[in-house]
Amino acid sequence: MRYVILGDIHSNLTAFEAVLADAERRGEVDKLWCVGDIVGYGPDPSQCIQLLRRYEHLCVIGNHDCAAVGLLDISDFNPDAAAACRWTAQQLGQEEQEYLKSLPQRLGEGDFTLVHGSPREPIWEYLLSTASARVNFAYFDSPFCLVGHSHVPLVFEENKESGGCSLLSLSVEVPLKLAEHRLIINPGGVGQPRDGDPRASYAIYDSDDEAIYHYRVPYDVAATQQRMMQHGLPIHLIERLSYGW
Ligand code: ZN
Repeated sequence: MRYVILGDIHSNLTAFEAVLADAERRGEVDKLWCVGDIVGYGPDPSQCIQLLRRYEHLCVIGNHDCAAVGLLDISDFNPDAAAACRWTAQQLGQEEQEYLKSLPQRLGEGDFTLVHGSPREPIWEYLLSTASARVNFAYFDSPFCLVGHSHVPLVFEENKESGGCSLLSLSVEVPLKLAEHRLIINPGGVGQPRDGDPRASYAIYDSDDEAIYHYRVPYDVAATQQRMMQHGLPIHLIERLSYGW
């Protein structure tokens, strides 16, 4: 089975389509595992929800998905994110709202747990340091946990003997072989990467190989930016896509 691991699509249909085309070019896609934030920031919230739903998939809810349907107070958002969120809320039809509201904070399949932020705090916590990742291994039972939220591709590996945890990079060159150590894995962001690389980021888990492959996909950033301009979305959100930040 081949599972496409992706998240933080953020209403960027052009990036999402590029990722799916890339995954399908590499082989048959059996299922999508989405770690949340389908919407927010970008110009195509409804279309991104509709495209995801055309695939067999699992998806957890992200903070932007919550905010778009009133499950979370946007006073916690910065002004640009809040403005994009208000615009997003106006674009969603009834059925799309119901779909977002139906998404759970946590899901599991096989050896994997899916959450948006962290297993300890699925909506809000960012896992960017080994200090925060280390304590989070106690908050899920499966061997592996998939997260999003930071939009940065990375892997934390638990070291049972020392009680510590190390940060590994998720490399395009070297597949991540799943072995005895428990892992927390972030595939990076599809629609708004934040690691200095503007290309869309995602991963594929191949259960036959017991390995995760990381990929970066160039997409037409200018096309997304142009639609954001047309909708009057904040300029800072438009510009950052050029830099992957
Ligand atoms: Zn996000």
